[in-house]
Amino acid sequence: MTAHKYLLPCTSCGQDTTVETRQAGDTVDCRCGKRLDVPTLRQLTALKPAADALPDEATPTRRWSGRQGLLLLGSVILLVTFGFGLYVWSDRPQRPTFDITADLEGIDEQIQQLSPVETWFLWKVEILERGFNVQTPRALVTYETERTLQQQKYLVVGFFAIVGGLVLVVGVFWRPPQPVPSSTTG
Ligand SMILES: [Zn+2]
Repeated sequence: MTAHKYLLPCTSCGQDTTVETRQAGDTVDCRCGKRLDVPTLRQLTALKPAADALPDEATPTRRWSGRQGLLLLGSVILLVTFGFGLYVWSDRPQRPTFDITADLEGIDEQIQQLSPVETWFLWKVEILERGFNVQTPRALVTYETERTLQQQKYLVVGFFAIVGGLVLVVGVFWRPPQPVPSSTTG
């Protein structure tokens, strides 16, 4: 026996709720929250049949799921990107700090053991060009290398943030092509 469906209008908001004949005499909740009394079977058959309403109900559900998928995907990408960005930011290299006075004292001791050429080289390259003592350039080089790497990580984060944002935007404005009427019905 087929369960026929009818549209029961809400006494509060006027929206139709689909009820089946087996629900006759029962109660059903409208989408607005109002509890509706389903009429008896005889009165029920006087209502507008819901058969033609079925495709309308099925289509928005399918349309929504594709959109939801995009919104979910975009959100996940953004969340993961945000988490990775936070990690990259917290893991950023710290600029080495220099105690110039102490460093210069260290240089003085080293300079006394150097040949004139080495002294000149030290002065020219390490102090004039790089600004600090013999030990600091290595720390600076390490820092600069890490900083370059850090900037590349930020680029990756930015790229995925844009991708995630685009997926979200596409999800928000997603309008799938209208389904072609099935040829099997004819
Ligand atoms: Zn209602």
